[in-house]
Amino acid sequence: MHEYSIVSALYDRIVAEAGARQATAVHAVHVRIGAVSGVEPGLLQTAYTLFTPGTLCEHAPLCIEEVEARWACPACGGAPAKGARLVCPSCGAPVRLASGDEIDLVRIELEVP
Ligand SMILES: [Zn+2]
Repeated sequence: MHEYSIVSALYDRIVAEAGARQATAVHAVHVRIGAVSGVEPGLLQTAYTLFTPGTLCEHAPLCIEEVEARWACPACGGAPAKGARLVCPSCGAPVRLASGDEIDLVRIELEVP
């Protein structure tokens, strides 16, 4: 399961962060998931729920912020309308993905004594 390996990688970063700050607990985990990142937020949430019992994140909810895909022209910066063909409305060049493919760990709320 793809989402499970993502949760596992996130957890490694959380543990490293918590260890660096000598945190005793994690209160919440905030991630940002792009619409075209290949990650299904619902599946990620499920994977997290299955992964965390008995871990430092056991009582920390996973807060997922979904980011819409945004496209931009590399030549002139033009952006196609939502749902339109992926070409620049000004110059006709193929547009590139500007955001929406991210899987970011945004913030971890830690209990630091
Ligand atoms: Zn253009």
